[in-house]
Amino acid sequence: MEIQAEGLKCGEIGTLTRLEEVPTDKHPKILIIYTGGTIGMTENPATGRLEPYNFDYLIENVPKLKRLNYDMDYFQFEHPLDSSSIKPVHWDMMAKVIEENYHSYDGFVILHGTDTMAYTSSALSYMLENVRKPVVITGSQLPVGEVRNDGEENLITAIQVAAALDETGQPMVQEVCIMFDDYLWRGNRSTKYSADNFNAFKSNNFPRLAKIGLGISFREDALWRPHTDDPLRVHYGMDPNIMCLSLFPGLQVDFVRYFLSAPGLKGVVLKTYGAGNAPTDRHFLEALRETVDRGVVIVNVTQCNNGMVDTTLYETGKGLAEAGVISGRDLTTEAAITKLMFLFARNYDAETVKRMMMTPLVGEMHE
Ligand code: ASP
Repeated sequence: MEIQAEGLKCGEIGTLTRLEEVPTDKHPKILIIYTGGTIGMTENPATGRLEPYNFDYLIENVPKLKRLNYDMDYFQFEHPLDSSSIKPVHWDMMAKVIEENYHSYDGFVILHGTDTMAYTSSALSYMLENVRKPVVITGSQLPVGEVRNDGEENLITAIQVAAALDETGQPMVQEVCIMFDDYLWRGNRSTKYSADNFNAFKSNNFPRLAKIGLGISFREDALWRPHTDDPLRVHYGMDPNIMCLSLFPGLQVDFVRYFLSAPGLKGVVLKTYGAGNAPTDRHFLEALRETVDRGVVIVNVTQCNNGMVDTTLYETGKGLAEAGVISGRDLTTEAAITKLMFLFARNYDAETVKRMMMTPLVGEMHE
């Protein structure tokens, strides 16, 4: 398929030259996909602001990379991006690079800005159906060009995670995940929770997949294993006709009505209080009911960092359920938004989208 985005082209795949060849039967083959982000940024002397730079600059600053005894190739976005500018078309680009190179590599490492990393990892987890190889996304809080930085370690550890095998010789990781600082997290369970800690990501409702310490200690019971032997099937395209609304005391029902009447709206992620609660205001609930009756899917996710929606607990949650709002249980906001985008792009009708929103597809929610 032809993927187009303004200012964006595929770069060449180049081969990293290793400093020393250590003879073994087989080196792990890793493809690094560089999309941008702080990890490869440098300061623009004119503005004093950080801007994405190219992959050559990045590897120059990580000379240790060449000491890894792996075969590594890279692919870079011609114009590396600050991840705040990521759009669904860029997810298509990443998925396309993986699909076209799937059989030639043992694992994939995506270098990405942290700001929207959890959206990308959630989106790719749905788009790469039946992936059986590691897709490890990482980045950093400080650029690799800084004397003190987290990018170097994150990059090297992500590559090692992507090359790790279990005792049967199969890839240890067979899913999309985020490797950041001390932890490996499931991609569609992760959230950026800190703008300045090196440990910037968390998965509040799911255990870590690995702890990075002196070694990499995987939690094999938490790792995803595909339920079928079916080959990789990549789904391109996302439907962006989705919105997200976070409740707060004093939210005007008129504003809610205006927002919900947007032409083309197909799905809403409603960020509610606690265990999925919302005001019992009749006009508010009527606005939701009318929207649901129009065929818009409204998904209830909690504003809390931890825990899940349970609308059977309180009267305030029951009102939403009666208005036809479905429970997103313990979905993160990122996983809920991208799942709606993914399902609507498959042209399912609203009832099918509702059913699939409540069904775990790739470990994104509680069974
Ligand atoms: N603004 C940057 C980005 O998301 C932040 C980072 O990479 O940490 O690209």
